Amino acid sequence: MIDEYQRQIDYLRISVTDRCNLRCQYCMPEEGVPLVNHDEILRYQEILRLVQVFAGLGIQKIKLTGGEPLVRRQLPDLAGEIRKIPGIHQVTLTTNGVLLKEQMRDLAKAGIDGINLSLDTLDGEEYQRITRRAELSRVWEGFLEALKYPQVTLKINCVPMSQSRESLLQVARLSKDYPVHVRFIEMMPIGLGADWEGYRESKIYRILREAFGEGEPVKETLGNGPAHYVQFDGFQGKIGFISAVSHKFCDQCNRVRLTAQGYLKTCLQYDRGVDLRELLRRGATDRELAEQIAQALLEKPEGHAFYEKKEKGEDTEKKMMSQIGG
Ligand code: SAM
Ligand code: SF4
Repeated sequence: MIDEYQRQIDYLRISVTDRCNLRCQYCMPEEGVPLVNHDEILRYQEILRLVQVFAGLGIQKIKLTGGEPLVRRQLPDLAGEIRKIPGIHQVTLTTNGVLLKEQMRDLAKAGIDGINLSLDTLDGEEYQRITRRAELSRVWEGFLEALKYPQVTLKINCVPMSQSRESLLQVARLSKDYPVHVRFIEMMPIGLGADWEGYRESKIYRILREAFGEGEPVKETLGNGPAHYVQFDGFQGKIGFISAVSHKFCDQCNRVRLTAQGYLKTCLQYDRGVDLRELLRRGATDRELAEQIAQALLEKPEGHAFYEKKEKGEDTEKKMMSQIGG
C-alpha cells in the first residue's frame, strides 16, 4: 500500500492485550489502566482474518505487542498461524521478557523471526524502581533462553529516563558480550511518557563514545524501523538509536497499528483511523474491510507534531502506550 505521501506501508503492529505484568513508570500507572472486557478484545480468529486482509493490501511484516503480549494465552499459536498466512514474510514480538523463558521454545517452533526485549537496566533496584516489580531475574533468564535460538534475531530496547550513566553503559555492553543489538529509544511524550524528559540521543551517544571510542556509523538499514546504528570496536552487535524526538522520521514511516480492541491507528500520535472490530462484528466482507483500511490509510497523517500539539490538545492520542503497543 502506498499512502498519500508516497510512503510504502508494509508493516503492522498488533496489540494483542492491554494487560501487563509490569508497571513501567513512563507507560502504566501503578493501579494499571481500566481494563476492557475480554469480549471487547479481538479474538485470535478475528486477528487472523484481519491479517489476511492486510496481507492482500501489501502488509508483509507483523509485530505482536501489547500491553505484554506473553500474558495472553497461547500467543505462540497465534504467531504460528500468522506466520503461515500467504504474503506475511516476518512475524516479530516485543516483550518485557518476564514470561519469555517459559514460552521461548514454542515461539521459536512457531517460526517467530525476531524478539525485541525491553530492558531499561540490569540493576535490580533500579529495575524495580522503573517497572515497580522485582522481575529482573526472570527477564534475565528469558534473555539467556532466547540466545539459545540463534535463528531468532534478538534486540534489546532501552528507554533512557533516569538511569545512571554506568547503568546505561551496562545495557550497552550487552551488545559487546552477546550477539544482540541494543537500541536506545527516546522517550516520546505519549501517555505517561509526557511526564518525563528522558535523555536525548546526543547525550547517550556522548556517554557511549566516552566509554567505547568513536564508533562507526552503520550505512546499511537494519530491520524495519527507523533505528540508525553505530558499530563500536570489539562489539558483536550494534548500538541503535530510535529518536522520534531529536530526528523526526515520519517521512519514512512504513507502519500502522491495530489496538487490542481492533481500532486501526494510522499514526502513533493521533486517534485517527477506523474501528475494524465494529466492521468485523457486523458482518463486513473482506472487500469492505479492505476498502475501509485503504481509506483510513489515505488519511494517514503526514507526521507527528509532538511538541506543537501538546499545547493545543486537538485530536491527539489520549491513550497510554500500553494500550497502543509502542
Ligand atoms: N510490554 C511490551 C514491552 O515492554 O516490550 C510491549 C509493549 S511496550 C508499550 C513497547 C515498547 O514501548 C517498550 O519497549 C517500551 O519501553 C516502549 N515505550 C513505552 N512508553 C514509551 C514512551 N513514552 N516513549 C518511548 N517508548 C515507550
Ligand atoms: Fe508493560 Fe511494556 Fe508498558 Fe512496561 S512498557 S508497562 S512492560 S506494556
